[in-house]
Amino acid sequence: MVVETLADVGGRPGLDCNGFCSYCYFRGVRKVAPFGCKNCMPFSKGCDYCTRAIAEGYPGFKPMNMVAFEVAQASFGVRPDKVTISGGGDLSCYPDLLPLSQLVGKSGVPIHLGYTSGKGFRRGDEAEALIRAGVREVSFTVFSTDPDLRRRWMNDKNAIPALSNLRTFCQSCDVYAAAVMLKGVNDGPALEKTCADLEEMGARGLILMRFANSREQGLILGNAPIIPDQQVHGVEEFRDLVADINNSYHFRVTGTPLWDPETGAPFALARRKDMLPRLPEIRRSATVITSLVAAPLLREIFSSLTDRVNVLATGKDVGCLMTIEDLQGLDLSSVKRTAIVPGRMLAHDREIRQALSRDGVDRMVIRGPERLSVDGEMSISMTEGEVLELEIEAFSELIEDINALGV
Ligand code: SF4
Repeated sequence: MVVETLADVGGRPGLDCNGFCSYCYFRGVRKVAPFGCKNCMPFSKGCDYCTRAIAEGYPGFKPMNMVAFEVAQASFGVRPDKVTISGGGDLSCYPDLLPLSQLVGKSGVPIHLGYTSGKGFRRGDEAEALIRAGVREVSFTVFSTDPDLRRRWMNDKNAIPALSNLRTFCQSCDVYAAAVMLKGVNDGPALEKTCADLEEMGARGLILMRFANSREQGLILGNAPIIPDQQVHGVEEFRDLVADINNSYHFRVTGTPLWDPETGAPFALARRKDMLPRLPEIRRSATVITSLVAAPLLREIFSSLTDRVNVLATGKDVGCLMTIEDLQGLDLSSVKRTAIVPGRMLAHDREIRQALSRDGVDRMVIRGPERLSVDGEMSISMTEGEVLELEIEAFSELIEDINALGV
């Protein structure tokens, strides 16, 4: 098992990023009331995670000594296999990124820079010293390799130095580039140019992220629309885009929330029915309540296993961004006496039970496993076998819950 330690440098989206990207999900967010979540105590709604972490409510970057202390504490004196440096602001804007990398990389531990847009690099050669310090993997928000598009849509005043560093990282590290897809902006010919450039630079992969501009698409912080009148790719359209790009270039391409052509994630089991006999037998019945994107795939899996489990979709595209409103509007007529909601759904347990019993039927409500599958952000560095193993384990856990608490 890989022992990975997180070095969280803090920072505020937009404010510690050299200015907001126009598509940043945190742009225009004011105070957000806690949603409630799986970590909350039964009697109180709002814990540290759903009050602070979801809205990335850090006060600013943390001092380097504090980050180093937290890394040492989290490692329990054991040398981790990898340290991921990450934060709420942009890593390239963290003033101590190099000394922190030198410190954590001192014992030869490989460092992963978990998401940087490069907007804080001013010279263009910063990557060289970071690589010498031990950086071996970089998740780089490229958006586009066209400096003008970066200037305009990412608010990037250092577009040329950022892209120059991207090229240097690609020469020595595993670089996974990422791009939020704005329809009519960085898709089409601009995306083809970006992909050709990334291929030439030697990037390992590209994660395409579907932009969300409404509550249903996943904007839950009360700031929708982020870009008024901006068109958004439909789910099917986005899936086709990912497949097309994957067919045209040599590096791995995945999409989030859909799709990974190589592993079949999310819900790779839907196309690998030969693996389903490894799951436990389903002996009781329940209703699985999930997102619009996951519902058809889950139906495909469960209908091959049993007729005791039905799957209902809410109006939200992504399951772990479901909130209490998504249950309040749900037609309960086909919800069985035991209902399962996504494990990471953002609502307090008591409110979930109330919303799912508002027709007078007292239902048992269970949170499902932490995750049933992975999206393109995770699967890009996984094999099909690894994704299938993760899903077999998660679905087995879900079925055990159904067998224990179903009707
Ligand atoms: S770099 Fe990321 S966190 Fe910062 S403003 Fe852009 S999208 Fe938001």
